[in-house]
Amino acid sequence: MACPKKKTSHRKQHQRRAKWVAFIPNIAKCSNCGEPAISHHACNSCGFYNGREYPKALQKKKKVTA
Ligand SMILES: [Zn+2]
Repeated sequence: MACPKKKTSHRKQHQRRAKWVAFIPNIAKCSNCGEPAISHHACNSCGFYNGREYPKALQKKKKVTA
C-alpha cells in the first residue's frame, strides 16, 4: 500500500482545508413551474430541465442552503 514519505505539515494541512468553501447555488426560476430552482439542475418540485422531465433517480440531490 502507498505510504506517505513525509508527515504533512500544519501549514500544508491548513492550506488544503482552506479550499473547503461552502456551496452557494445559483438560484433561478424554473421555466416550467416558476419555483426557485438550482440553475443547470432539474427542478426539485416538478423535475423538469431544459424542456423535458427527468426521472427522480437522475436528478442531483443538493440541499439549498442560502
Ligand atoms: Zn419546476
